[in-house]
Amino acid sequence: MPRVRTKLVSWDEIVDWSMHLADIIKRDGYRPDLIVAVARGGYVPARLLCDFLSVENLASVQSQHWTEAAKVEEKAILKFSYRLNASGLNILVVDDIVDTGDTLKLARDHIEANWSPKTVKTAALQWISPVAKFKPDYYYLEVKEWIWFQYPWTRLEDTYQFIKRMMSEAYKEMGKSEWTNEEVVKGFNEWYGIDVGETYYRRALDVLLEKGVITYDPSRKTYKLVAT
Ligand code: AMP
Repeated sequence: MPRVRTKLVSWDEIVDWSMHLADIIKRDGYRPDLIVAVARGGYVPARLLCDFLSVENLASVQSQHWTEAAKVEEKAILKFSYRLNASGLNILVVDDIVDTGDTLKLARDHIEANWSPKTVKTAALQWISPVAKFKPDYYYLEVKEWIWFQYPWTRLEDTYQFIKRMMSEAYKEMGKSEWTNEEVVKGFNEWYGIDVGETYYRRALDVLLEKGVITYDPSRKTYKLVAT
């Protein structure tokens, strides 16, 4: 049983889910003039919705809530809040997933209050219904049990954060401080129940080395957490 329930999402699934989401929006008769991607998770779905709904106008607002994979920060904030004159425009605000719902709600409220749009609706590929405080106007998949979705656009970021967490918890729990490459991969598979592939493990370890989070001992061929 993995420690963090995680599902690896493929690019093909993202295209498929975005296509279905576009169909739901079309069937409802909503015709957005402008799509607003909530950065960073909403970028790819928003771009695909532009394609599938024939929308030329794409803007973005950035919010920060989950600074680390599968670890929520207390409060969602808008990082760069600017004003835009969207009078007369029907806006669709798009994110990848509605988890607590704070992010999409914050973006929607900001746009409604500051951009003078004609209408604003919200859309997400997924909606985690038991935990979300906010239900998007449109969603494709309802998720009934919380799980971390490992989207293709955060694969490297999630992988290095997960490896770092695994190493630091293993140290706290059993004093394990040295890891061979094979142990990292095996541990990752067990802890998260997914396999992101050799390229991502290698790059994730490189990022952790660059950031000074781990060191490498070439004679022992092992990685070590710097704090330990
Ligand atoms: P929230 O404000 O909790 O609705 O979520 C903010 C953002 O964090 C989402 O737009 C995603 O990019 C990311 N996120 C939150 N929960 C998850 C999850 N369970 N799986 C993957 N990404 C998530």
